[in-house]
Amino acid sequence: MIKERIEELKDLLNKYSYLYYVEESPAVSDFEYDTLFKELQKLEEENPEFITPDSPTQRVGAIGEKFDEYKHKYRLYSLDNTYSYEELEKWYEKLTAEYGENVELVSELKIDGLAIALTYENGIFIRGVTRGDGITGEDITPNLKTIKAIPLKLFKNVDIEVRGEIYMPKTSFEKLNEENLKNGEKVFANPRNAASGSIRQLDSRITAKRDLSMFTYGAILEKGSEMPKTHYETLMYLKELGFKVNKNIRLCKNAQEVIDYCKEWETKRNNLDYATDGVVVKVNRLNIQEDLGYTSRAPKWATAFKFPPEEVSTKLESIELGVGKTGAITPVAILTPVQLAGSTVSRASLHNFDEIKRLDLRLGDTVLIKKAAEIIPKVVTVLKDSGHDHRKEIALPDECPACHEKLSTRPREVGLYCENPQCPAKVKALLEFWVSKDAMDIENIGPSVIEQLYNLGMVRNFADFYRLSVEDLLKLDLVKEKSANNIYEAIQKSKNCTLPRFITALSIKNVGKENANILADQYGSLEKLMEAAPQSLEEVRGIAGKMASDIYEYFHTQENVAIIKDLLALGVVPEHTSVVKSDKLKDLTFVLTGTLSTMTRSEAEEKIKSLGGKASSSVTSKTTYLVAGENPGSKFDKAQKLGVIILSEEEFLALLRKR
Ligand code: NAD
Repeated sequence: MIKERIEELKDLLNKYSYLYYVEESPAVSDFEYDTLFKELQKLEEENPEFITPDSPTQRVGAIGEKFDEYKHKYRLYSLDNTYSYEELEKWYEKLTAEYGENVELVSELKIDGLAIALTYENGIFIRGVTRGDGITGEDITPNLKTIKAIPLKLFKNVDIEVRGEIYMPKTSFEKLNEENLKNGEKVFANPRNAASGSIRQLDSRITAKRDLSMFTYGAILEKGSEMPKTHYETLMYLKELGFKVNKNIRLCKNAQEVIDYCKEWETKRNNLDYATDGVVVKVNRLNIQEDLGYTSRAPKWATAFKFPPEEVSTKLESIELGVGKTGAITPVAILTPVQLAGSTVSRASLHNFDEIKRLDLRLGDTVLIKKAAEIIPKVVTVLKDSGHDHRKEIALPDECPACHEKLSTRPREVGLYCENPQCPAKVKALLEFWVSKDAMDIENIGPSVIEQLYNLGMVRNFADFYRLSVEDLLKLDLVKEKSANNIYEAIQKSKNCTLPRFITALSIKNVGKENANILADQYGSLEKLMEAAPQSLEEVRGIAGKMASDIYEYFHTQENVAIIKDLLALGVVPEHTSVVKSDKLKDLTFVLTGTLSTMTRSEAEEKIKSLGGKASSSVTSKTTYLVAGENPGSKFDKAQKLGVIILSEEEFLALLRKR
């Protein structure tokens, strides 16, 4: 029984390893792989007679088949890992039991890329080889030469072998995937796969086009050269030689300081432009490292603390269709519930139907889901198992799930839309947005209250909220006197609102919080905004084009105007406290072009507005001044043609000071 399970685990892990390292197309999440790996490790520990040389616990990675094989002079290892602080403490206790109380450690971020060994002779880069199975790797020297972070010549003429991690910055990974998607090429599951796929290109011109970098984290020095005594000194020495060493390394006195470091980076790592999957902890003194030595696959003097998984795999059970406030139909993945970063997840967003096509998602597929900065997890990739090809593709819906109206597409926009203005799902979404934090911020009204208010016919548009009495609210399920009063008070309170909030709450197409602020600043009052001519809206910086005509159309649609009039009559008072501090620039219209050296363009615009001037985005005969920074655009020529006064940055600054 045990032997069979061991065999099963070995087969499974070897298969996953091959897909992960050679095909660059993982079939399960790292967490799942590590869990199976731990199970195998434990079974083998308890039953050592079943350990075989082909067990993944005895080996490191796998060798690819694209390049010439190269046998490493010094073996490359993997790292033991743990997901628990308790195990980390135990590992440290063992160290102190043997080497005394003060075993210093170095904490480093575990860069999620691929390991590489670089050989330098006399300070010259000779060869670069992938880790492969630790004994033999692939010689990818020409490709590595395209990476700027790899010095071709060191600052000292030394013989050295360095170890590092090749990675692709997150932003470059996203850009590459976007481009690949457009060109119908391979889309990578994560930056690690993208880095691995880019570095293992047979044509190094392709590698050169990919944005790759490397952090160096270790070295083997030939005896006789300057020999550091600690790992930390080694890292400093590598820096002196000209290598890129991650700056977030920290010397720690004990396990607690390492744990503090791990906790700190668990959240801070989201702000880094490279992927990290944990912290590598290494014994600082090299003589202790030497004494401790290695197991068959990892050093005993180091361990990796892995951050809680942000990616897990689960099954796609069905697709649910949501209707947004714009009428956009959004598919939502309904999943077999799984634990992900501390919570149970059973739904994931899919954005639109193009995304389903891109992922080649089919019902019953196993998918990798991820929780990143967003609260709602998303489907990262489909883990293609043998059943995938036989599953049915997901068809596009042709009618709205709520009102059954035929769905349509919109020019220049992706996705499907329900265009029925009375669609109950759409109206409810609009009402939900009206009360939301970014809009009128009416507390105590959640989706279930909206659902009831709508179904009972009490609220069908924004103005209806302000017609509700406490008695009306008491008719709702689960709403007792206290909460009815609270809801009523919150509605009344929202009557005194700011103009930007009111504009946002209207849900005008493409007008979110930011544009609402721009419009409020520009026009100062709701009346003026409603009266704005298309030409005037066009000139508002940041609005322009289609958005300007959408805004104009919104305020010239009878139903919208009627609701706004009702809102005002019911006592809703949107007010704008102007940011204008003086009227020094009154009646003057400015247009900015090019780059300014002392402030950003939006800062300059703020300044103009605060002095009572107007900042516009296009040059017309009404423009008073064109402020031209470095590399001005076509606005410069237009201003010249129209005879508009052109100011240099210095002249502009002088004008601000003088007047
Ligand atoms: P690993 O990635 O867990 O750790 C070892 C590697 O860490 C080193 O080889 C090195 O490349 C890297 N590293 C990054 N920063 C470092 C630093 N500062 N100092 C030292 N090393 C640093 O181990 P591995 O052997 O490369 O891969 C095994 C892991 O890969 C598994 O634990 C699993 O999570 C994942 N894996 C997943 C699948 C899958 O199907 N999802 C399959 C195989 C392996």
